[in-house]
Amino acid sequence: MALTGIQIYKLLPKTNCGECGVPTCLAFAMNLAAGKAELSACPYVTEDAKAELTEASAPPIRVVEIGAGTKKLKIGGETVLFRHEKTFVNAPGIAVLVTDEMGNEEVAGRIDRFKRLEYERIGLTLRADLVAIKSVSGDAGRFEALISKAKNETDAGIILMTEDPCVMETGLKVCGDRRPLIYAATRENIEGMATLTKKYKCPLVVKGKDLDEVAELTKKLTDDGLKDLVIDSGARSIRNAFEDQIVVRRGAIQKKYRPLGFPTIVLPCEMTDDLMQETLIASVFVAKYGGIILLSDLQGHSLFPLLLARMNIYTDPQRPMATSPGIYEIGGPNEDSPVLVTCNFSLTYFIVSGEIEASRVPAWLLVADTEGLSVLTAWAAGKFVGDAVGISLKKCGIMEKVRHKKVIIPGYAAAISGDLEEELGDWEVMVGPRDAAHIPAYLKEWSA
Ligand code: SF4
Repeated sequence: MALTGIQIYKLLPKTNCGECGVPTCLAFAMNLAAGKAELSACPYVTEDAKAELTEASAPPIRVVEIGAGTKKLKIGGETVLFRHEKTFVNAPGIAVLVTDEMGNEEVAGRIDRFKRLEYERIGLTLRADLVAIKSVSGDAGRFEALISKAKNETDAGIILMTEDPCVMETGLKVCGDRRPLIYAATRENIEGMATLTKKYKCPLVVKGKDLDEVAELTKKLTDDGLKDLVIDSGARSIRNAFEDQIVVRRGAIQKKYRPLGFPTIVLPCEMTDDLMQETLIASVFVAKYGGIILLSDLQGHSLFPLLLARMNIYTDPQRPMATSPGIYEIGGPNEDSPVLVTCNFSLTYFIVSGEIEASRVPAWLLVADTEGLSVLTAWAAGKFVGDAVGISLKKCGIMEKVRHKKVIIPGYAAAISGDLEEELGDWEVMVGPRDAAHIPAYLKEWSA
C-alpha cells in the first residue's frame, strides 16, 4: 500500500465510533495500511476519501489480464524493484511468433512445439503462454486465416500484431472472445486502436519511439478511460531495451509515475537472428523486468532453461515451496516394500522421489508435514522430530499396508531415531544415507 497509516488516518472521519471492529480510527488506519482490514468496513468514509484510498492502494504497476478461461495470463502487479525486498508477483508470459508470410509447415511446427514443450518441475507445469500472430503482408484475409488456424490449434492466449486498425479489426472479429492483446497503438494509429480496444474490451500495447512518447500516449489513453495497457518502449537493442525496463520499473515504483505504471513487452525476436543469443537476451528480461517476452521460435534446449529461470525468480522467497504431506507410492510398492520418510520441502521431495525411482526398487515414501522446511532446518526447528514423525507414520495408514516393521529415516536426521523408536513401539528405525544420490545403492542393498 502506498499510503502510511497516518496518511490514511487523515482521510478517515476520526469519530472513533468503533463500528469497523476496532475502537479507534487510528487503529483502523494502521490495520488498513498493513493490509489487515478492508476499507469497506468503515461505513462513514466519504466518496472523495474512498477514491483517494482506492487509487493509492492500487499496485504501482497495473495488473493486466490477457486471454480467457483457464489459460488467462496475468502480468504486472509488481511492487518492488528487487525480489528479496518482498517477492515478484506475476511471472512474465513467454510468447512465440508466427507470421502470415511463413509457410504452412513453419507455422505448424512452431505451434506444435508451443503445445508440446511442457515440463514438470517440483509439482509445477512449466510452458510458454502466448502465441503472437503477426500480419507482415498487410493482407486481412491472410491474417484472418492464420488466426483461425492458431485459434483452432490451441486455447492459449493470443497477441494480434499489426499497426493497421482495419487489419486488426479483421483479427478481432475472429478471436475477440479470447481477449487477445492488441499490438500496437502508436502515435499514428492511436485513435483507431483505442476505438477497437473499447469495442472488443481487450488489453492494448502502446508502442513509442522512446519512453517519453510512450508516457505521452499512455496518458492520452488513460484520460480516455483505457487502463489495461502494456508498454513497448520501441527499443530493439539489448542495451536500450534493458535501460528502458529499468526506467519503467523505477519510474512506476519509486517515483509513482502513473504514465509508466504498466507491464511491458520485450521482443528478443527482433534483437538477433540467433536462437541461442535470443534465449540469453530473453533471460535478461526474465530477471529485469519483462512482462511479456516474445521469441521467434521454441526449442526444448532453449526454452527449458528460460522457464526454469522464470520459475526460480518468481517463487516467493518468504514462502518455502511445499509438497502435500502424505504417503506416496513409488514404482508400485507392495507389503514387503521399504518405507522411507522425508520432509515436505518440495525440492527435497522431488530429489528423494527421483532417486527412489532411479533405484527401481518399489517403495513407500512418507512425506511428513514440516511446513515446507528441509530435513535439517525442520529438525532444528522441532518440526522433524521423533514423536512428530512417529505420529505421522501412525496416522498415514502405512502400518496396514506393509507386513514388516521397518522405517528408513534420512541420514541427517539420525538424531531422531531413539525418540522415533520409542514412539513407534516395536518398529525398527533404520538410518538411511545422508546424500540422496546414495539412496539407489542403499535400497538395492536393503531389498537384496
Ligand atoms: S468505523 Fe470508521 S469512523 Fe468508526 S472508528 Fe472505524 S474508521 Fe473510525
